[in-house]
Amino acid sequence: MDECHRFKHGVATGCYGKTMTDIGSIVAEIAAEMAQATDRGRVADYIAPLAGIDPAYFGLAVVTADGACHAAGNADISFSIQSVSKVFTLTLALGRVGDRIWDRVGREPSGTAFNSIVQLESEQGVPRNPFVNAGAIVVADMILAGHQPRVAIGEILRFVRGLAGDEAIYIDEAVARAEQETGFRNAALANYMRAFDNLNNPVDLALGVYFHHCAIAMSCRQLALAGRYLMARGVNPETGKRVVSPERARRINALMLTCGHYDGSGEFAFRVGLPGKSGVGGGILAIAPGHASIAVWSPGINASGNSQLGMVALERLAQRTGWSVFDPVSIPGQPQQVPA
Ligand code: GLN
Repeated sequence: MDECHRFKHGVATGCYGKTMTDIGSIVAEIAAEMAQATDRGRVADYIAPLAGIDPAYFGLAVVTADGACHAAGNADISFSIQSVSKVFTLTLALGRVGDRIWDRVGREPSGTAFNSIVQLESEQGVPRNPFVNAGAIVVADMILAGHQPRVAIGEILRFVRGLAGDEAIYIDEAVARAEQETGFRNAALANYMRAFDNLNNPVDLALGVYFHHCAIAMSCRQLALAGRYLMARGVNPETGKRVVSPERARRINALMLTCGHYDGSGEFAFRVGLPGKSGVGGGILAIAPGHASIAVWSPGINASGNSQLGMVALERLAQRTGWSVFDPVSIPGQPQQVPA
């Protein structure tokens, strides 16, 4: 376990009077428990470079509102963030096109797999939400508008590096290439949306942007740092710079809660109770608004494509800190709740 302090512009924290050491020991404790787990899910093998990742890895990083970073396990090893990147591209696209985004993408949970094509036909090529693959491909198309793919990809990478304050974050070209070569389902989704006029750029260019942002490689520590603006009402607490309006930060969190884990979103809300976004690389970014930005990584995923142990770890973290958004800190007329 190690701690660092980075925020110059910290926001008020309230974690039931828990001290930094408490949070640090909770993080270390959870990592130690996860090291013992035997049911670790299965590593995604449909993206060839991910197939060989050791399922024994586990990393956890928690950046609290006061700027402290608590990390344990393999929190400094880079992994493929995959669909977690959709949070950042949505944020970027909202800044670029604003609420017009919602003319082309919905805001409802899909209840289907991340790469499902069935709803697209009955819903006229408008994806259910920006976190299923089809929705993220439309968002990539918006970021691409008027640019070369290389420029759009560079912009996304720069944005993520800026959020984390870390220039070492990179795109794993081997992962992007593998998806480009074998992403037939994504190609089908993109072609289908193009047929409904919901894609403005050539299919292969929009897909190129999508595959490259999915191939961003980050560690838990970098990912938790990148997510800070979502716990802090849209402001990067280290730089004091506004990333999005408070209203947009709140709405992105709402979408993460309702749609961030595909057809496992209900289960995630039930067990963890935090906005979260998963990726098939086994990463999850979870936000405890006002309290913390959290990244967990365990490469084995479950049937819904979400990190098996990542969810267990976050469930324990939310329980032990009392950070679930459904677990209010104070209720008028009642003593402050302390987590069981
Ligand atoms: N790049 C992956 C895909 O398109 C992202 C899926 C995911 O992480 N859920 O299949």
